[in-house]
Amino acid sequence: MSSQGFVGAVLRQGHVEYEKARHATVWRENTPLRFPSVIVKAECVEDVIAAVKLAEAEDLPIGVRSGGHSWTSPHLRDKSVLIDLDAMREIEIDPESRTAWVRPSVKGRHLNDALAEHGLMAPTGHHDTVACGGFLMCGGFGWNFRHWGNGCRNVVEIELVNAQGELLIANEHQNQDYFWAARGGGAGFFGVVTRFRVKAYPRPKCLRANGYVFHEDAFEDAMRWAYEIRAKLPTNCEFVGSWTSWDPETGDWAPTRFALSGLMFADSEEEAEAVSALFDTCPVRDKAVMRRRNEPTTLEERYTGATMADPAGFRFAADNVYTDKDADEIVPLIRAMVESMPTPRTHIFWQYNGPRPDFSGMALSGWGDTFFAAYPLWQDPAQDAQMQKWVVDAMHMLDPIANGEGQMNDENMEAHPQNYLTVEIAARLEELRARHDPKGRFLSFLTPGAR
Ligand SMILES: Cc1cc2nc3c(=O)[nH]c(=O)nc-3n(C[C@H](O)[C@H](O)[C@H](O)COP(=O)(O)OP(=O)(O)OC[C@H]3O[C@@H](n4cnc5c(N)ncnc54)[C@H](O)[C@@H]3O)c2cc1C
Repeated sequence: MSSQGFVGAVLRQGHVEYEKARHATVWRENTPLRFPSVIVKAECVEDVIAAVKLAEAEDLPIGVRSGGHSWTSPHLRDKSVLIDLDAMREIEIDPESRTAWVRPSVKGRHLNDALAEHGLMAPTGHHDTVACGGFLMCGGFGWNFRHWGNGCRNVVEIELVNAQGELLIANEHQNQDYFWAARGGGAGFFGVVTRFRVKAYPRPKCLRANGYVFHEDAFEDAMRWAYEIRAKLPTNCEFVGSWTSWDPETGDWAPTRFALSGLMFADSEEEAEAVSALFDTCPVRDKAVMRRRNEPTTLEERYTGATMADPAGFRFAADNVYTDKDADEIVPLIRAMVESMPTPRTHIFWQYNGPRPDFSGMALSGWGDTFFAAYPLWQDPAQDAQMQKWVVDAMHMLDPIANGEGQMNDENMEAHPQNYLTVEIAARLEELRARHDPKGRFLSFLTPGAR
């Protein structure tokens, strides 16, 4: 199977296994109709270097894929070399420095399983199968992110292959341009990251779930209250909400539910109880159809819950906006969006991010006090166009409150481009791309009209 000079398979368009391999690079079922000329299934750093050289020899641009969970799949491009890093999954933990070297396709859950043996934990994506590569490079909103920072803030060093096929180490002391760009530059990065060294933290002693589930009669009051308490919550409380209209038993339509959840990463009972006491102040708590108060939970339970909301095997789209507005302006817009959800498994998500962090030293720069995202799930290919249109229309309902910046991890750049990086940071990224990849070997963001 392997071509000369490669350990992993090299599949050219037309090869009997090409289409299966192409489809497997995308997590959602609706694989975009974009066709690389060659897929290199890299198994090691030497394969990555050889793939960059192959692209140079054939004058083809390069797309890179770690876990394939990005929503627009910018790695899949016509007439390109696709470097698929799926096989690169090693983890090397140094408990003393509380860091781990992770290969790009390590899944968040696997990293945390390995770290648990040392009493440690890292802020990975909430879904089981999100890989570290794209999660870290696009910014990353992981466990306890308000306290530990975004995923990319926890990257202390990277190993990469650049456009010239050289293997480099980048950190805050050497090859700083690469280090800066890899921390939040996402698909705009001009190289292949082959390893990340990430920080880990002692596992919080008390992982506690607080929350309410409401029906439609209470959700507007509950949201107003959520905006009242959001800034009072300590940074180690993840505060999110979601609207769903499916029956978990049958998978069919059910009355719409609004779930508000505060996941507490506490180190003491007192800390955990203080947050539960804030949850007690909800004025419509008696209308809740379900309540959790300071309930012990586990990371495993949380991964499983997140994965149930977005199961494999569905067709998906996603889009998001950031807003800095308050409840009075937001709440009236939400009902129409929620009422327009097109399939039972569709869900709308809200997250409190908190004040804009200090982003010095990294490309990550888009931000909003709160985040709204919509995710339609469907199974019939005949609905593809309708669903992809719905998600953008739904987000446009929030135009009056959107701040114009978007979250790169849940991007829909093709159909609803926003500023995923601030204007200054985007300009700096382009400057660095031109300097380090003058031939434009690495493909960039999948914006409208991109090659
Ligand atoms: C079900 C689901 C749940 C999710 N949950 C979360 C969540 O809780 N928090 C969150 O922040 N995000 C979440 N996401 C979004 C996810 O973090 C991003 O889509 C992220 O890009 C996925 O990483 P990946 O490696 O799987 O993706 P990929 O699609 O492989 O990577 C995305 C892009 O990043 C670039 N890239 C990736 N790896 C490399 C590399 N090694 N070198 C150079 N460039 C590279 C490429 O341009 C690539 O196209 C979720 C996505 C899904 C589908």
